[in-house]
Amino acid sequence: MEKQTTKIMNNEIKSMTERILHGHIYIKKNNVGIFKAKSFEESLLVNHGFAGRNGGVSPAPYDSLNFSLSRPDNMENVRRNFHILSETADFDVRSIVIVNYEHGNNVCRVDKRDCGSAPNTKKCLPRCDGIITNDKDVTLLTLHADCGALFFLDKEHGAIGLAHAGWKGTFLRIASRVVEAMKNEFSTKAEDLLVALGPCVCGNCYEIDNDLADKFISEFGTDAVIRRKNGLKPTLDISLATIIQLCETGVKSENITVFDACTFEMEDKFFSYRRDKGQTGAMAAYMKLV
Ligand SMILES: [Zn+2]
Repeated sequence: MEKQTTKIMNNEIKSMTERILHGHIYIKKNNVGIFKAKSFEESLLVNHGFAGRNGGVSPAPYDSLNFSLSRPDNMENVRRNFHILSETADFDVRSIVIVNYEHGNNVCRVDKRDCGSAPNTKKCLPRCDGIITNDKDVTLLTLHADCGALFFLDKEHGAIGLAHAGWKGTFLRIASRVVEAMKNEFSTKAEDLLVALGPCVCGNCYEIDNDLADKFISEFGTDAVIRRKNGLKPTLDISLATIIQLCETGVKSENITVFDACTFEMEDKFFSYRRDKGQTGAMAAYMKLV
C-alpha cells in the first residue's frame, strides 16, 4: 500500500516540476553580487535578494562579505559588512531582524519591536529557522553557507516570510511550517503564495550517508535522493524535497522559482560550508515589504 502511494507521488512530482520556474536575476553593485527572483521583482511589493561572498571587508577564509556571528572573524568586519549590504541593497541597517536558527522548524512572527535582533547578542529571537512579518519597517534576514534560503510572498495580504533550510530543517518540513504560520497569522492562502528557493548546495553535490538517504526517501519519495554507482555515496536534492512539501501544502508549482545556483560549485561567488570544510563565511538572504 505504501509503495503505491509513493509511486503516485513520484508521478505527480514529474508533472509538478515541469511547471516550476528556473533561474535568477543577477545584479552587481558596490562589488556585491545579488541574486533575485524575477517573480518577486515583478510584484513590486518587496525588496529582496541573496548576497554572494564578494564586496565585503573580511579576510580569508571569510573573504569577504561574511555575516557569520559565530565564526572567528573579527566582529567589526562583520558589522561593516552589514552596513555594506544595507547600503547596496537599500534598506536601513537598523531594520534588520536576523533568524536565530537551530536547524529546526520553528517559525516566529516578528515586527518592528524585534528590529536589531541577532543571534549571539543580548537581543535575539527565540530559536527559529523561519521568520514572517507584515510590517513594512522590518527587514527579514537569514544566514547561509550551503543551506537553502526560502522566500515567501503573499501578495494578497501583504505578508512575507524567509527561512533557512539545511537537511535537518528540510526533513522537518520548515517550508510547510512557514506556509502554515502565514495562514494562521495573516490568513494567507497557499495557492496565492509566491515562493523562491535561493542558492544552495545542489542535488549533484550534496553527498549524504545511506541512512539519511533512506530517511528522506521514506518522507519524500525516491526523487529527492540520487543513488550513484561505483560505490559513490548518494546525494540529496534539498530543493526538490522543499518543492514536494510546498506542493503538498497547496503552493502552486508555477508560483515557485528555483534559482539554480549551486553554492558548492560556484566558489568565486559563494561560501560553501561543505566545500570549505567549515572554514568559511556566511551569506545573507534579505527581504522587506516596500
Ligand atoms: Zn552542485
